[in-house]
Amino acid sequence: MTQPLPILVAGGGIGGLAAALVLAQDGHAVTVLEQSSAFGEIGAGIQLGPNIFRMFDYLGMTESISRVAYFPPGLGMNDVRTGEKVVRVPLGEVARAAYGFPYGVIYRADLHQVFLDACKAQPNVNLRTGAKVESFTQDANAVRVRLAGGDTVEGAALIGADGLWSRIREAVVGDGKPRVSGHVAYRAVLRREDVPAHLWSDDVLLWGGEKTHLVHYPLRRGELFNLVAVFHSDKYDEGWNTFGDTAELTARFADAVPQVKELLGKIETWKMWVLCDREPVKNWSDGRVTLLGDAAHPMLQYLAQGAGQAIEDAVVLREALRFTRGDVAQAFRQYQQARYLRTGRVQLTARFYGDIYHASGVQRELRNRMFQGGTESAGFAGLKWMYEGIDPGKLFN
Ligand SMILES: Cc1cc2nc3c(=O)[nH]c(=O)nc-3n(C[C@H](O)[C@H](O)[C@H](O)COP(=O)(O)OP(=O)(O)OC[C@H]3O[C@@H](n4cnc5c(N)ncnc54)[C@H](O)[C@@H]3O)c2cc1C
Repeated sequence: MTQPLPILVAGGGIGGLAAALVLAQDGHAVTVLEQSSAFGEIGAGIQLGPNIFRMFDYLGMTESISRVAYFPPGLGMNDVRTGEKVVRVPLGEVARAAYGFPYGVIYRADLHQVFLDACKAQPNVNLRTGAKVESFTQDANAVRVRLAGGDTVEGAALIGADGLWSRIREAVVGDGKPRVSGHVAYRAVLRREDVPAHLWSDDVLLWGGEKTHLVHYPLRRGELFNLVAVFHSDKYDEGWNTFGDTAELTARFADAVPQVKELLGKIETWKMWVLCDREPVKNWSDGRVTLLGDAAHPMLQYLAQGAGQAIEDAVVLREALRFTRGDVAQAFRQYQQARYLRTGRVQLTARFYGDIYHASGVQRELRNRMFQGGTESAGFAGLKWMYEGIDPGKLFN
């Protein structure tokens, strides 16, 4: 066991809380500094691949997650213009047999709440709201963080889990603003009773079209229905929580099959997300300061892995601190070394999957034939490296 350290975490999203929890479990005194006035997550769905359930298993959280998750029987893609089935990968027992862990989906607010409750149950986690990190300094022994309003907080280490527009990243990596992909996502959640039976699907179902796709799946044990419509657009507001333009959405899906149009028509108000990522980097640490989650490796959502990779980060960071017996700077170097190729591969592969979903012309025809010609399990095999996940016990031996 290493000497308990006072550790600061900037950002109380899924990544920041995951880091706080695992470090507190090792006895460290963790202070989470969250800029918002309350901890919380936006209302939308999140997919959790078997690699993420492997982490929940490792953290003893499978039961609390499973209580609020939904386990879809399959993952499918249809052509949005013709309605033809492109591919369907069975999940359930097939995913368990292949990877030892299930594929689930969860309401973001529920996932965040499970981590928040677990953090609250740890006496050595101090959860601070209204605490916006402005800047930091460090020397050989400590990191000092200055908050908006002038307060300073000191710790032995600082983990920047402050998301896509990370302040900490500006100081550590300094690679400017995130790359705006030109894709936007509109999201909405319906209650089960508001979705007519002929529009409901138990599967995670993606309708792929030219520069557009719609994905939907049930949430919270099947009580809710999550919809995310993605399309290419040069109209966007920076942020994750502005209102979408329904007229633009309708125009983008003008040649969709009636079932999709009917489903889109069920929603009066959409919330918009501008989708950004960054080029992968291999150095996101500086002495006693490191990054985690979207701050370190923001990715497009096409592989549904951003939150999952943040949770993997948290586990690897803890293993690195254990391995170096609390030598923070060395642990942060080991942690990023263990992570950058895997997270970089997810970042780059996610872009490629976006192209596949949004294909048109010959590319679309080829996609449909290639997927339709493959065996069902082949659809899953291409992402084996990702879904297999990591074995925390074997990382630094
Ligand atoms: C459309 C869409 C769909 C997605 N689907 C999936 C999916 O299915 N599966 C999946 O795994 N991932 C998915 N993701 C990705 C996932 O949402 C993110 O990767 C994940 O939320 C990142 O978590 P984080 O904790 O690193 O950052 P964030 O969730 O951004 O949290 C950062 C926190 O830091 C706080 N903060 C920011 N700046 C400061 C500051 N200066 N001081 C203090 N606090 C600060 C913020 O208020 C926030 O609470 C999706 C993303 C999008 C856009």
